[in-house]
Amino acid sequence: MYRTHTCGELRLADAGKTVTLAGWVQRTRDLGGLTFIDLRDRYGITQLGFNMERDKALCEQARQLGREFVVQATGTVKERESKNANIPTGEVELIVTGLKVLNAAQVPPFTIEEETDGGDELRMKYRYLDLRRANVRRNFELRHRMAIEVRNYLSAQHFLEVETPVLIKSTPEGARDFVVPSRMHQGEFYALPQSPQTFKQLLMVAGMDRYFQIVKCFRDEDLRADRQPEFTQIDCEMAFVEQEDILQTFEGLAKHLFKTILGKEFAGPFPRMTFEEAMRRYGCDKPDLRFGMRFESLTAPEDAPQEDLVKGHGFKVFDEAELVVGIKAEGCAHWSRKQTDALIDFVKKPQIGATGIVFVKWTGEGLKSTVDKFYAPEVVQQWAARFGMKQGDLLCIMAGKADKTRKQLNELRLHLGDQLGLRDPWTFSPLWVVDFPLLEQDEESGRWHAMHHPFTSPKPEDAHKLESDPGSVKANAYDLVINGTEIGGGSIRIHDRALQEAMFRVLGFSDADARAKFGFLMDAFEYGAPPHGGAAFGFDRWVALFGGRSDIRECIAFPKNNAGRDVMIDAPSPIDGEQLKELGLEVKG
Ligand code: ASP
Repeated sequence: MYRTHTCGELRLADAGKTVTLAGWVQRTRDLGGLTFIDLRDRYGITQLGFNMERDKALCEQARQLGREFVVQATGTVKERESKNANIPTGEVELIVTGLKVLNAAQVPPFTIEEETDGGDELRMKYRYLDLRRANVRRNFELRHRMAIEVRNYLSAQHFLEVETPVLIKSTPEGARDFVVPSRMHQGEFYALPQSPQTFKQLLMVAGMDRYFQIVKCFRDEDLRADRQPEFTQIDCEMAFVEQEDILQTFEGLAKHLFKTILGKEFAGPFPRMTFEEAMRRYGCDKPDLRFGMRFESLTAPEDAPQEDLVKGHGFKVFDEAELVVGIKAEGCAHWSRKQTDALIDFVKKPQIGATGIVFVKWTGEGLKSTVDKFYAPEVVQQWAARFGMKQGDLLCIMAGKADKTRKQLNELRLHLGDQLGLRDPWTFSPLWVVDFPLLEQDEESGRWHAMHHPFTSPKPEDAHKLESDPGSVKANAYDLVINGTEIGGGSIRIHDRALQEAMFRVLGFSDADARAKFGFLMDAFEYGAPPHGGAAFGFDRWVALFGGRSDIRECIAFPKNNAGRDVMIDAPSPIDGEQLKELGLEVKG
């Protein structure tokens, strides 16, 4: 037997017992005649004590141990003289009588403690060492508990966990496919699923009624902090449901996770906002509602008719703008010129690309704007009224093309939210965004793309416009947003062959092409397909959010780096000539 207890287990009540522990040497301290070792395993740290007087040889052996040696120690549990209140085992130590090295270790490339001196690349190259750190490991304990609670909730709601294949044919979810060459059918390829979308729909045709899977999905796209080429989704589908049933069911899932994992209860239903309102009021389809700063427009935009308060005063920027829109930063009127200039620099960054900001301050001396030359005090007073401005507030106003300006103002809003400490990771603000457009048009090519995916159904009242006026069709699609992060989304699906064919036509597929790619699904719709819909949630992201992490890689055991590489195993990597030949492949260049 390697051990009688773990390194997180012993307490004062165990004093006097003879026990054996096994683990890693975290730290050795030599204090003259005494040597102490912190022995670590997944469960905690226990102090081992050695004494020159008591056993010189053993003490010397202990002093030889390097960091991360794997050892087994037998001894007697004793109350410590100087206790450590910071760890659960801190009242005791093990007076060691027998010590055995199970495996020696090289000096690790970085410190295996809460705070490490290892940079990103080094941590990933030696991820198995990085994972020994308690604060990293805790992300996986959280991930595990969340997976269990997802299963608990969904099972109680009669969802069946069914596995779907990984070697499939392309499912378009807006990214490129990873492909796998077939040896047996040379020149032919499998695609890895961007999601199990078509299979889960087929499971509904198969009468499974409610399906879920915690499943790997693969998307070949440019990476960002919250994206990985392979990631995990909580993928779900339900038959005989309308949008409302789905929102209720998955709001239930979210509430269950909030309660069981974080101990947080939400009294009422999650707020809902239409896509149109999200874009108009926050400039993005996943607004962070932990704080206000809703947009107000000073022009009279078509989508929210109101009196124009800026045109015709000789200020060219506003006169020529399609939209003049701003936000109110409460209590920021005292900001210095340097601070407001920094905001201008922020929005001028190439990634944002704005030209400037007009400021209005309401200080003890009254209202003052950076465009007082053009606007009489009564006009600026009207602006202030539109924003519900009070003394002490600062307005930041931007102008230009409507869509672009709203996006830029969204960036400024989030930036101000950060600066003002309004985005506390332990405050949670969930939101359903609903009524997405079914399609979006590519500006250059004029082609229509499915905003969610091609299997999403139009709202019944809009279905007749699908081919005549695609841009105006709304979808039965919804996203769950928490703190400005899109946690998941889904839709009610098309379950009728003719409508699915029409959808593919609008998306520019020829009938033959649609049949070749998705004939299996459309065929299934002819054998009794129930109305159905579902959703999928980004599991890695959700874990990161609940763990207070901004980078999902922290919650993935062996993630890829920003260039899509696994630097530990060195993948991707070339394959040898023999293997290429077998696959009937040749690498060019
Ligand atoms: N398959 C979709 C996705 O991966 C989710 C869904 O529509 O259920 O985003």
